[in-house]
Parts: sequence; C-alpha cells; structure tokens
Amino acid sequence: MRFDYHTHSTYSDGSFLWSMARAAEEAGFEGIGFADHCNVSPDSKQEGRKKAMGFNLDTTYDRRREGIDLVRDRFDIRVFDAVEMDYEPEDEAAIREFLDSAGFDYAIGSVHYLDDVNVHIQPYFERKPEAERRELVAQYFDKLVALAESELFDVAAHPDLFERTPALRGLATREQYERAAEAFADSRTVPEVNAGRALREYGEFHPNPTFLDVLAEYGVELTAGTDSHDPADVGPRKTALEETLAERGLEVVELDL
Ligand SMILES: [Zn+2]
Ligand SMILES: [Zn+2]
Repeated sequence: MRFDYHTHSTYSDGSFLWSMARAAEEAGFEGIGFADHCNVSPDSKQEGRKKAMGFNLDTTYDRRREGIDLVRDRFDIRVFDAVEMDYEPEDEAAIREFLDSAGFDYAIGSVHYLDDVNVHIQPYFERKPEAERRELVAQYFDKLVALAESELFDVAAHPDLFERTPALRGLATREQYERAAEAFADSRTVPEVNAGRALREYGEFHPNPTFLDVLAEYGVELTAGTDSHDPADVGPRKTALEETLAERGLEVVELDL
C-alpha cells in the first residue's frame, strides 16, 4: 500500500497538513491525500451544520492548495489535493458544478447522513424500532448505489459506514451488498477499504468481511485509506490495513494521478 488516499487536515476536522505529511512519510507511505470534508448542498440545514462545525472547504480549497504546495516542498512524498464530499442524490448538480470548477486531484464521495442525521449519532438511531432501522439501512444502500451510478467520484468512502453505529449494525442484507457490488462493478468509482474504526471500539474495517467477500465475487477493485485525523493514527492504521489485505489476499488499486 503505497498511498494513503484518505486523511484529514485542519481544513476540516483533522491535524496540521505538515504533521500529517510527516506521519505518512515516517509510516513509509509514498504519498498522502488530503480529503477534507466538504458539503455544497443548498439545503439550509447543511449550511447551519457547516457553520457550527467549521467545515468550509468549499470556500477555502484555494488557500489549502497553497498550503499543500508548501508541504510538497518540505517532504519527499507525493501530496494530493483531494476532497471528501458529502453525497446526497438531490445535490448531484451542485456537487458536479463544484468539482468541475475546483479541479481536485481526485474526489471521494461519502454517504454520511440518514434521515438528515449523521449515521454516527447512536442516540438518535437507538430510539427507533428495528423495522425502522432496517428501512434506514435500505435507504443507505439506495444512496450508495446512486453515488456509484452518478459517476461523480473517483472513490466511495467507507461503503458501510452505518456499521460503526451499534443501533444500525448487522442489519444489511445479502441483496443490498449485491446491489452495491453490481453498481460499483459498472462504475468508475472505486470503493475504499477504510481503517477509520478498525483499531477502535468497532474493530472492523469498512467494508466488513461479508461485504468485502461480495465485492470480491463481483470483481470490484478497491483502494485504501486510513481516514486518519491525527498523525498518531497513520502508522498503526497502515500496518493494520496491510495485514488485513494480505490475510484476505486482496490487492488495492492505485488512482491514476
Ligand atoms: Zn467520512
Ligand atoms: Zn474521512
């Protein structure tokens, strides 16, 4: 695994560009991609959320680009100027327009919300009866398939993100995995193996082993990303990813950059 395509800097909820680049170099990566969170939805709720969280890459990407250039001068690894876009099917036109004008090295697309709530918010989902939670997981797969079919992105982030939330875990069906795998097999968008919670309480990568098996059956290629926000996570997550990929006999593909 030569490149870490998924990390975050202080331009969203991560650490300084230089500290992340140094960690990637020390971990033995040949390149690091900064995929800071970005949302261009015209929805007013998303506008408010961006202000509350301080996520504004849609307006600061030029400034970050200058920062990335400085970091490129300082380290002997490649540094990619990327983005992790929130994806909702109704925002496709806004996302397309933004990506066309911003000109990132590559774009990662993410389904982060169900019912307009971030899937990480366990208290919101645990209140719901199981039938409703199953329906929300079905909606997650509808969005994931739409993401693949939109052809907007190079990479699809953490393809089963809801699994890290106990109230939504284990509710996906074989049919849902197959539908997603079929969509990715037909798309330029490559799903990633994401280490974001593999060394934390959840203890699995995204996609989980069952979903990974289905993707392999359909011949879907994968990239990999540590999804590190802290430099201390880069090295251990690289090691964990490489061990898992080797155990499962999986090879990741590199983006054409
Ligand atoms: Zn994400
Ligand atoms: Zn991320």
